[in-house]
Amino acid sequence: MAKYTPMIEQYLQVKSEYKDEFLFFRLGDFYELFFDDALKAAKELEITLTKRDAGNEKIPMCGVPFHSAESYIKTLIDKGYKVAICEQVEDPQTAKGVVKREVVQVITPGTIMEGKMLDETENNFIASITHSATSFVIAYTDLSTGECSVSQMAGRFKDVLSELYNRPVKEIVVSENFNEDYKHSLIHYLNVTLSFQDKSEIPEDYLYLVENLEDVHLVEGFGRLFQYIYHSQKRYLTHLQRVEYIPIEQFMKLDLYSKRNLELMESIRDHSQKGTLLSVLDQTSTAMGARRLKKWLDRPLLSKDAIERRHEQVESFMVHFFEREEIRERLKQVYDLERLSGRVSYGNVNARDLIQLKKSLSVLPSLKQVLDQIESHSVTSLLGDISVFQEIYDLLNRSIHDEPPISITEGDIIKDGFNAQLDEYREASRNGKAWVAQLEASERERLGVKSLKVGYNKVFGYYIEVTKANLNQIDLSRYERKQTLANAERFITPELKEKERLILEAKEKSTSLEYELFIKIREQIKEYIPVIQKLAEQISKIDVLISLAVVSEQNNYIKPILNEEQNLHIEDGRHPVVEQVMQDQFVPNNIEMEQDTNILLITGPNMAGKSTYMRQLGLIAIMSQIGCFVPATHAILPVFDQVFTRIGAADDLVSGQSTFMVEMLEAEHAVSHASSKSLILFDEIGRGTSTYDGIALAQSIVEHLHDHVGAKTLFATHYHELTDLENTLSQLRNVHVEVDEEDGEVVFLHHIKPGKADQSYGVHVAKLAKLPEDIINRANELLASFENGDTKDSNQIQEEQMTLFEGETKPKHDHGHEDVVNELKQLNLLNMTPMDAMNVLYQLQKKID
Ligand code: ATP
Repeated sequence: MAKYTPMIEQYLQVKSEYKDEFLFFRLGDFYELFFDDALKAAKELEITLTKRDAGNEKIPMCGVPFHSAESYIKTLIDKGYKVAICEQVEDPQTAKGVVKREVVQVITPGTIMEGKMLDETENNFIASITHSATSFVIAYTDLSTGECSVSQMAGRFKDVLSELYNRPVKEIVVSENFNEDYKHSLIHYLNVTLSFQDKSEIPEDYLYLVENLEDVHLVEGFGRLFQYIYHSQKRYLTHLQRVEYIPIEQFMKLDLYSKRNLELMESIRDHSQKGTLLSVLDQTSTAMGARRLKKWLDRPLLSKDAIERRHEQVESFMVHFFEREEIRERLKQVYDLERLSGRVSYGNVNARDLIQLKKSLSVLPSLKQVLDQIESHSVTSLLGDISVFQEIYDLLNRSIHDEPPISITEGDIIKDGFNAQLDEYREASRNGKAWVAQLEASERERLGVKSLKVGYNKVFGYYIEVTKANLNQIDLSRYERKQTLANAERFITPELKEKERLILEAKEKSTSLEYELFIKIREQIKEYIPVIQKLAEQISKIDVLISLAVVSEQNNYIKPILNEEQNLHIEDGRHPVVEQVMQDQFVPNNIEMEQDTNILLITGPNMAGKSTYMRQLGLIAIMSQIGCFVPATHAILPVFDQVFTRIGAADDLVSGQSTFMVEMLEAEHAVSHASSKSLILFDEIGRGTSTYDGIALAQSIVEHLHDHVGAKTLFATHYHELTDLENTLSQLRNVHVEVDEEDGEVVFLHHIKPGKADQSYGVHVAKLAKLPEDIINRANELLASFENGDTKDSNQIQEEQMTLFEGETKPKHDHGHEDVVNELKQLNLLNMTPMDAMNVLYQLQKKID
């Protein structure tokens, strides 16, 4: 005897192909889950776990109603799981044996299409990574909007992580034999669902998607992603757009640390959007615009011409205030055309969506007209030819009611006059209804019963209702009794029955014809998907440029002047996010780094505003390169190719690295990748270790940047000893944050001035933080004694420090060993392994023995 019932055997057969997914198995009005899926789903979804007789044994089972399945699926997807939907694919009435069932779609975090599961202002990307001997190919698709792109990067896997970091990527597809360490990093750093696909060939019907790609590696990379999507979605993917090649070298490179430290789109504290640059810049009116702004922030431009074109467009929208506000009003009526295209392709749109499309298209002529009033070609060209949209508008206007129901199977969608056959059915139904209405009046008259009613209900159809008190007045030979109520009897006549048949038949026929017509209209709209997608792109760009113009105007930003000579000059610069909170309290600052200055060494007490000053420059650079104006009264800026940051302490507990290790990794990343066109922001490098180690590392990093990199660098430090470097490094200048002392209390002025700081004020800050008085008093006592050199300890420290930093003026213990000293000076410590260093030390020691 078989162990399980035939239906459970069928379940197990399907499940064997979908081991990774929760299998939602359709049984009547429910999706049921069995075995381990049931145990796990009952816990995750907090639903009741039951048992089902499956033949020889009872098995675990739980289920969700078909009509409310979406919210349960969303819960699982949000938790990073995948769900396979298995439907009945033949009519249970006519089926012989177990009803045939098939998986019709696999829903995964990266492939959701359902409106309620998506965040409308965020893309929902699925990506794939393909590793070849020399490079990584990363392919992206957002199934909800249809956009596809691919890029390639030589280099380390860390660069791949930086590329993907902060992107709305929910799922990543790799080959089964993908490097285990890489898999681990993807899950930990990016918090994504990992999926596997080894195949990478693209089916014939979809080859057009990759026709713009020349490199076979790119095609293969996209092919892996496509295969995964194709097999999980099991339908025609007509809305996918041709794959765009994104040459990442043409965009400013922002590594993972900079994206995190500068809080571009996500705050460090709670990972929300609050307090980020995005929150300041986002004044977009459409979901498409909101998504595009994030893309721009993720990829600032490198081409001076392209940046200047955006500045010019933003300026035009600032100057033309009235036109801009009119355009904003119109944009608010524009629906999410990108996602609508996706749903049209998936066959998920209803008549209300198409009415939204019609409304969106209706604003185009006036939008174009207002744009044309702005006399700037770079703005008027933002919206192309719109004549084709008139055809779509006309079709929808002729065919679909302005306020249709949500359901597409119950009629009331198509307008009168659109289809002759439909009009005929409706006429028949209307005539029948008029006849029925007439019947009530004539029967009341004929029988003299005023309370006689003709009514309709779904179970009994049409009926004539007479109260019991009036029953004796009725000629029962013509009336056939149908239903008895407490106070009345309901009847039918042969004529009424005939009319009912005609009315219901007409209704049934017209409903099914309406459905057919709707599907036909939807198919016609499908043909227009590429032009609608193009329109969506144009509208989203207009929306973002206007958003940048509004923000620039509201916050008094200025148009930056770009130069290729690496001159940097900012007057009264502000931090765009901090100034929002502080309003008038924010102290603007200049940043002067002409061609001959590459490093500003910033000293000043804690809490003075050093980090704010550094982040401010990073954000100003990024704002400029996405096309926005910047918070300053005057700004001359280079175009930076990369921004590197090392700001604030961040333990990387996930990968088990200490604060100091992270600090060194971030420093290493900058030192080995920066070019003379980069921007480096280093805050307190070397602070995470002992003083001597720290100073030594900080100084050697500054020297290396000065001598070998030449990037514009802001270097904030508490090691005042480093300020002497101004005497030896020609391209380094000291600046400090001004502080006042009033009655022994420190007052932060947040003002950056040339020259070095006189002291650290650490104890003052500790006092501000309300450390106990005895600790503060003791610290002041010790400080005074260190400063006076009273103690043995302080003498020792000073002596050692002098040895390290005072160069020629210090007593020469090494007299007679200049060659050794010179050799030591020449050493490039950053390029040495510990073993090299030991060997050199050994040789040097031998020389002075
Ligand atoms: P630490 O050395 O302790 O890291 P810091 O010098 O880097 O301190 P910030 O963290 O930049 O100091 O700033 C401390 C606080 O000072 C900020 O939270 C902000 O409130 C305020 N601040 C910074 N810059 C300014 C400014 N230009 N105008 C007004 N307030 C400022």
